[in-house]
Amino acid sequence: MSQPGVPSSGGASTGLQVQNGAASSLGSPYVNGPVQNALMSSQVSVSQGYNSQLPGPYPHLMPAKTSLNPVSAQNNYGGSQTVCTLSNYQGPGQTLNRPPMVSNPVTTSLHSGPVPRMPPPTSQIPAATSMPSGSFLAGVNLPPPLNWQYSSPSTGSQTNHCPHPSSQPSISGNTNVTTNHQHVFSGDPSLQNSCLKSGSVPSLVNPPATTFQPGTPLGPPPVKGPPPVRALAPQKSSHSAVLQPSFNSAINQEGGTSNTSNESMVVHNSYDEIEGGGFLATPQLTNKNPKMGRNVGYSYPSLPPGYQNTPLPGTTGMPPSSLNYPSGPLAFNQTPVGANHLTASVHGLSLHPEGLRVINLLQERSMLPTTPLQPPVPNLHEDIQKLNCNPELFRCTLTSIPQTQALLNKAKLPLGLLLHPFKDLVQLPVVTSSTIVRCRSCRTYINPFVSFLDQRRWKCNLCYRVNDVPEEFMYNPLTRVYGEPHRRPEVQNATIEFMAPSEYMLRPPQPPVYLFVFDVSHNAVETGYLNLVCQSLLDNLDLLPGNTRTKIGFITFDSTIHFYSLQEGLSQPQMLIVSDIEDVFIPMPENLLVNLNESKELVQDLLKTLPQMFTKTLETQSALGPALQAAFKLMSPTGGRISVFQTQLPNLGVGALKPREEPNQRSSAKEIHLTPSTDFYKKLALDCSGQQVAVDLFLLSGQYSDLASLGCISRYSAGSVYYYPSYHHQHNPVQVQKLQKELHRYLTRKIGFEAVMRIRCTKGLSIHTFHGNFFVRSTDLLSLPNVNPDAGYAVQMSVEENLTDTQLVSFQSALLYTSSKGERRIRVHTLCLPVVSTLNEVFLGADVQAISGLLANMAVDRCITASLSDARDALVNAVIDSLSAYRSLVLSNQQPGLMVPFSLRLFPLFVLALLKQKSFQTGTNTRLDERIFAMCQVKNQPLVYFMLTTHPSLYRVDNLSDEGALNINDRTIPQPPILQLSVEKLSRDGAFLMDAGSVMMLWVGKNCGQNFLNHVLGVQNYASIPQTMTDLPELDTAESARTIAFISWLREQRPFFPILYVIRDESPIKANFLQNMVEDRTESALSYYEFLLHIQQQVNK
Ligand SMILES: [Zn+2]
Repeated sequence: MSQPGVPSSGGASTGLQVQNGAASSLGSPYVNGPVQNALMSSQVSVSQGYNSQLPGPYPHLMPAKTSLNPVSAQNNYGGSQTVCTLSNYQGPGQTLNRPPMVSNPVTTSLHSGPVPRMPPPTSQIPAATSMPSGSFLAGVNLPPPLNWQYSSPSTGSQTNHCPHPSSQPSISGNTNVTTNHQHVFSGDPSLQNSCLKSGSVPSLVNPPATTFQPGTPLGPPPVKGPPPVRALAPQKSSHSAVLQPSFNSAINQEGGTSNTSNESMVVHNSYDEIEGGGFLATPQLTNKNPKMGRNVGYSYPSLPPGYQNTPLPGTTGMPPSSLNYPSGPLAFNQTPVGANHLTASVHGLSLHPEGLRVINLLQERSMLPTTPLQPPVPNLHEDIQKLNCNPELFRCTLTSIPQTQALLNKAKLPLGLLLHPFKDLVQLPVVTSSTIVRCRSCRTYINPFVSFLDQRRWKCNLCYRVNDVPEEFMYNPLTRVYGEPHRRPEVQNATIEFMAPSEYMLRPPQPPVYLFVFDVSHNAVETGYLNLVCQSLLDNLDLLPGNTRTKIGFITFDSTIHFYSLQEGLSQPQMLIVSDIEDVFIPMPENLLVNLNESKELVQDLLKTLPQMFTKTLETQSALGPALQAAFKLMSPTGGRISVFQTQLPNLGVGALKPREEPNQRSSAKEIHLTPSTDFYKKLALDCSGQQVAVDLFLLSGQYSDLASLGCISRYSAGSVYYYPSYHHQHNPVQVQKLQKELHRYLTRKIGFEAVMRIRCTKGLSIHTFHGNFFVRSTDLLSLPNVNPDAGYAVQMSVEENLTDTQLVSFQSALLYTSSKGERRIRVHTLCLPVVSTLNEVFLGADVQAISGLLANMAVDRCITASLSDARDALVNAVIDSLSAYRSLVLSNQQPGLMVPFSLRLFPLFVLALLKQKSFQTGTNTRLDERIFAMCQVKNQPLVYFMLTTHPSLYRVDNLSDEGALNINDRTIPQPPILQLSVEKLSRDGAFLMDAGSVMMLWVGKNCGQNFLNHVLGVQNYASIPQTMTDLPELDTAESARTIAFISWLREQRPFFPILYVIRDESPIKANFLQNMVEDRTESALSYYEFLLHIQQQVNK
């Protein structure tokens, strides 16, 4: 390919048609909830270990070169254990001088014979069969579904997803799925979660094509019927031992609730059932959640039977006279809103006339708006649209849904959703009600787009079942009026949060548990990161989300693993060293994760001591894998968050990696290692997911560290990856600043534990591929051991059944999680969109940012399953195919030029930007880990940040004024216009700020005005701008205040911290600045105009 950016053959034959995303929504009964041990027990049994040495459950995933350790049938606890106090410990490298092992009952018991260990997960994935019609573009032969994980392409069905074999949810109409992937964790009966295999649901199209292959004798029984639920814990739930057919079946849901109101453990572990179930047909008379008063945002009081509004659960009697919620109008005269109240006005075009324009891009080259591009507004009646979900939370690539798959195929545009479900919200209605009203058939939560047939009946907008309105729901707590269910907050807000009653719990909500795992090898000490991280933890210790139950623990590692006993009453932390990394065990399990409140002083002591402890270390080896195994064992009983800090390629023990980057291949599109070299991290992540543990990885490394392999630990456990290349406490001050700011955010941001998310859509639509960091537990249930407010997700969809009788469709995401305060909550977003019958309408409603975001996700998959050049070709073809379709099928008269609908006027530009994005660029020296990190970002970032990374915003800032400025809290924030990304827009007498998401570059022209130099940069002249300037001085000038206000405001918009570089013409970093000039030609990539010419040539063929 001589011209990057252009497919070598212009053929439109290699689009991104494949359903190559993650998690095809194929059925499989992976049901793997939390452990059933007593939650609050600090007793950690060593028997809960993860034995990495047993044969892996994904033999087919194993690259031939990966050698797993031989089966170790015996437990070997021969590891040495050294216990010493911190004050005595002289630092690594002096092991011989350690005090003799302290004889200790705990230690003794550790060696007291074989203890059952948890077998590894069992995965059984049937041979991939071909996917019928999962693609979003028609007319192509579909390869077997490939998922997005960085796995060997030859194993087409390796999973991050464990679809249900037999339970095609009726709501999403997933009836086209014939491939069944199955992934089942089996386990030691004393430890493992129930392994529920869903039974057949007769009405479903595809019977399970899955065979069950237990990984160990203890594994679940074979096919046909669920394995029995096993648990040590007392079984309370009556249905835990009976066949549990899958989620989403009304038959199974009724009565399928468990009561976890007391502290005893609940055994069945299917979150499937939980999110799917929970609706009680009969009013629940007690409110079991004593903490319902704690709300985020504004809340509605609970509503005990009898329609009283009392703050205390279970109270009966007359409504109290003093109610906290705003009293609304008492009149009952509003028009109910709902699908059945829609009239033909649905199709009354609300589009701005501009939106109907056809544009010749070769003539109109300045299509970039000067203000941030807004998502298109769905063409809905205003009564509906005003209730619709905020596009920042939930948006669709096509805001007008084609009524048939054939129509969608014609448009050659991808259909999918982009979600930011746990975004921090200023205003979030929280409902505390004893009854959460859901459709009896498909479990949809009542929402603004249902229709009320009358006061007593509502019709589900997803499956059309008519449901009764529960008695309590007749009362509106907002207005205190009886008989207006359609005015309840649930029916007035597309985004709402419910306090979940106990039916939504499989066990008592877990406490917040945080485990920090630090690399303390020589390399790590050299970077000086530990000092900063420990200081940041000290500073933010009281801000960690949590309550009196919060637990915390620490592990450090180099060639050995070090634990820290923080037991209350100790005079100082006690260090315990486990040197047998072949068979990691947990010494003194009960004292390693401690209650933060009770042991706060010890924790603080440790954090103050840690950075000094290893300063003299000579240990260069890094046993990350064993350290992660230890962390997993420690966390298994409760679930929680593991934060790992790693500074090099792990080179010891399981999970050891080898360098495989070839620097001379960095600019090539071929032969680069984008797939993991071992499945160790993926397997461990899946184990973590099964125990409600998420792993966040902080990689601070100047050397190649194989992020493609390491990243799997976070990807599959719903964690996050942070990357600080070349971090050094002295040499790289901007990285230090970035880590500091981002750690503060990380440590203090909201967190949800033991979460699941399900996405439902109107009958006829089908979700088939998920993108993001998670594990797909069943067809549409994502397992999120942790959920954080900065994570984004995407899904691909298809039209399974014609929507010809439907005017509106809806999508609903429900995120069930445990808050850091121990409350079970459900956050629900519902999006409503119109259905259209013509191709032109489909094009008019296209959301080009969402399309670009979804295509990027698909392209990452394509990179993994095929190649980088294949992915690049597919991106280009996505533009060519859709614009060809528009030209040939929509435009009546064939005009010369490159004609595009207004909605897609930025499509070629954004795709060109994608081709120049770090994930997909060629021809430039892109380090492999940086490319992989960019791909991680594609998968995990909310759309708005991703777009900024891909197509940065350019502003002129040397002439900022208050004209048109925003006023926020007495701050005046200038709003300069956004410029096209071309050097044509620069001038030497100005200064220009490029905001590329995680990086900002302030380029100062040679002839920049003295005013800016003096009053903003604080320098005498151009020559005295420092070579590396990464901050603006706060000067007592209006210009300085404006510039700083603007940059601060930009930074506040995002959860990560963008580094600022002030650059002059001679700065080495200027190349990065120019690299982001998407519209310009570079040595290796086309200019925007050249790209348009290429597209035109292909379209007009
Ligand atoms: Zn329904």
